[in-house]
Formats: sequence, C-alpha cells, structure tokens
Amino acid sequence: MTEEAVPLTWGVVATVSREAFTTQRGDTQRPGTRYFVPGAKVWVLPIMWGDGGDQRYVVGTRRRTGGRSLIRLVMNTRYLANYRVKPVFSPSLHAAMSQPQSVDQGDALPLYASREEAQQAADSRKWVRTRLVHLALAEWPEPMHNAEETCEFCDGRDAAHAGAPLEPNPHPPPGGGPDGSMDWWGTPYGMWRCGWLTEKRIETPDSLDDLALRHIATARRKLRRQARLLAADVAGRTIAELQPQGIGHARLRFVPENYQPRLLDGVVHAWLDGDERVTRTQFG
Ligand SMILES: [Zn+2]
Repeated sequence: MTEEAVPLTWGVVATVSREAFTTQRGDTQRPGTRYFVPGAKVWVLPIMWGDGGDQRYVVGTRRRTGGRSLIRLVMNTRYLANYRVKPVFSPSLHAAMSQPQSVDQGDALPLYASREEAQQAADSRKWVRTRLVHLALAEWPEPMHNAEETCEFCDGRDAAHAGAPLEPNPHPPPGGGPDGSMDWWGTPYGMWRCGWLTEKRIETPDSLDDLALRHIATARRKLRRQARLLAADVAGRTIAELQPQGIGHARLRFVPENYQPRLLDGVVHAWLDGDERVTRTQFG
C-alpha cells in the first residue's frame, strides 16, 4: 500500500494576463509586469488587508532568472486571471509563501488553512470577476475581467455571435434554486444562456420579455457603442498621446503583437507598432 503524498499546504494559483501592460523600468510601458512575464503562474496568498483583495502577496518565478528565483511581493490583482486551487509540495515554495513580512514582524504569513478554504477563495474571486460584472450585481460598475478568464457568459455570447443555437447548452441545467433567481443565472448554465440571449438581442433589447435580460442587453449595447467610439478615437495615436487622457484598463488594453485576445464587453484591445502607435483595434 502506498501512502498518498500529503501537501505542505493548499494554495491558489493565478495566471498573469497578457493584457498586463505596465511601467517596468524608467517610464517605459511594456507587456507584462516588472517581475513577471505575461502568462506566468503566480501563487496568490490570502487577503491580508481591508481592500477586498485588490492588493495581495503573490509568489512567483522572477523574470530573467531562468525559473530559478522565487520572489514574493505585493501586487495589484487586476492583471491576474483564473484563480484555481493547487497543492504545495515544494519546501522552498512553501518557505517563500510563508516567510515573515520583515525581520521586525517575525510571524510567518498565514496561508490557507485547508483545501476547502482555498477553494472558497478561488470561487469567491470567480464570482466577483465574472458574475458581478456580467450580471450587473455591483453597486458600482466592476471592471471587465481579463481576456484569459474562463467565463461561461463570454462563451455563450461568442456562441451566439458565431451562429450556434441556444440549445444544447454545454453546461448541465441547474438543480436547485428557482428559474430566474440570481443563483440560477449565476450557474455556468445560466451564465452561458444569459450571454447567448443578450448577444442575440443586443440591438433589440425590447424584444426580451425577461426584465433582467433586457437590462443586461441594454447595458451591453451601451458598452459596445462606447467601445466603438473609443476604438475610433485611439486609432493611429501613440501611447504618449493617449496617456494624458487617463483611459484605464477597464476600457483600453494594449496587447502584444502575437496575442489575439477574445472580445470583451466594453473593452478596446489595441495593438501597437514599434513607435508605440495604435495600428489595429478590436472591441466587444
Ligand atoms: Zn466574461
């Protein structure tokens, strides 16, 4: 009989989005972040401060070290996608995650207490990044998730756009909860269906009987119009010209030449030439 390996702890992993475009050295902006390359995997530590998780400790492999150097730092989580739970077996990784904040603050950093707690954190993030934003559940508009985020709403929207039928829905029908409740729409099945229906009727929201769907389709139509205007506005302009306008990541994302992100509601993706001038855009 073999014993199953017992992990040192359970953690939450995320991917650094290819939409990350940040100041790294001097005042030059480029794809990725200062310490991580786009597409890198990082371990996201539990929420420590009262900001809802905007700033988190993360541990990852520092860029340009050939995968040898683990680094822990505080990072804004807006460029992280697809939180998922993984076991930690490596003692050096575990040490990097739990090391004290400083020599003065000698206590090891708290990690997730169990696999379940890590899963709750990943699920909660998924809810905020996809459900809150697409189902318009937040008091203030939430920024659109990153293009890499697994999202059943966007899948349903893309399926409608490609001419696929509403049925079959690729996800199993929800078991509990009355039809049309928030919990029902929040399932993968409901999200896919909502994305499909609101895309199909995005130019004619009044033809939707369901009040929630009509609101969502109307809001999506407005976002798409705004994105169309923004795409026309940024075409042919340089980053230096655009920066003073302060158009944030929620609306405008510069992406690397070889990267083709999926369409996102209300977001303009812009590709740049060597002079950092916008040569091409797409918007959703
Ligand atoms: Zn989505």
